[in-house]
Amino acid sequence: MLVVKCGGAAGVDRESVATDVAALVVDGQRLALVHGGSDEASRLGERLGLAQRFLTSEGGVRSRYTDAETIDVLTMAMAGHINPGLVSRLQGLGVAALGLSGLDGCLIRARRKAALRAVIDGRVRIVRDDRSGVVTDVNSELLTLLLDAGYLPVISGPALDPTEGPVNVDADGVAALVAVSLRAETLVILTNTPGLLRDPADPRSLVREVGPGGMEECKSLAQGRMKPKLAAAIKALEGGVGRVILGDGRQDSPIRRALAGEGTLFLPAAIEKGGVA
Ligand code: ADP
Repeated sequence: MLVVKCGGAAGVDRESVATDVAALVVDGQRLALVHGGSDEASRLGERLGLAQRFLTSEGGVRSRYTDAETIDVLTMAMAGHINPGLVSRLQGLGVAALGLSGLDGCLIRARRKAALRAVIDGRVRIVRDDRSGVVTDVNSELLTLLLDAGYLPVISGPALDPTEGPVNVDADGVAALVAVSLRAETLVILTNTPGLLRDPADPRSLVREVGPGGMEECKSLAQGRMKPKLAAAIKALEGGVGRVILGDGRQDSPIRRALAGEGTLFLPAAIEKGGVA
């Protein structure tokens, strides 16, 4: 079982991802595709006159301020635009792709955060109308049913808190939980860099393989939006996924290149304590 997460960042080539998925499916690969959509949501929000706002935690981490209008924009961008685009392209390539948001069949269950602490105008304030949350469960029975029937699930946010409604969750975390729940051998996370870089400004500074205990050092290399990807890699490896590969989604055959050794390979031993990279 292979789970692929295709980033929503600028530059990720969804056409190449779809072509590569189709080639792998022809080879008999059992596969599920998870995708993000943050950049698309920001663009759509601007077109609708709803400029996206961000919150900064006391620790300095920036996150999207997901009020009720913003969760609608996110849903439109992910489940209304990117997902149907990927599904129709895959169908055109002969793949029995089936699009699902986290709401469908409660595929991705989450717990909405009741309140967030954020620094606004230099002061710590409590934000109560944010609709973001933490993923808790994946409906793996539904996914297995679809996979066994020959469908390729194409999965997007938002997730569902059954009592609170749709919530915004991190797509890397969703991909990790999908991979764990389907007992995947491999999780490939495609983004707009060659992989994990020692220096984010230098594409030649790629970390190729993260072996025994190496994850601690990786954490010190990741900045900003790379942090949730490492957290997802840890979650996947802790949950029994055989390997996680962080690959470049801006090129032809991005998945097969990642599987062939390009990008950053995280092995299960990476999460052992006390080693060196
Ligand atoms: P996606 O939409 O694919 O999930 P993100 O934009 O959320 O991608 O995260 C990828 C970004 O992480 C890169 O564009 C890069 O700017 C940033 N980044 C931070 N630290 C690193 C690092 N050490 N190596 C590679 N990228 C990094």
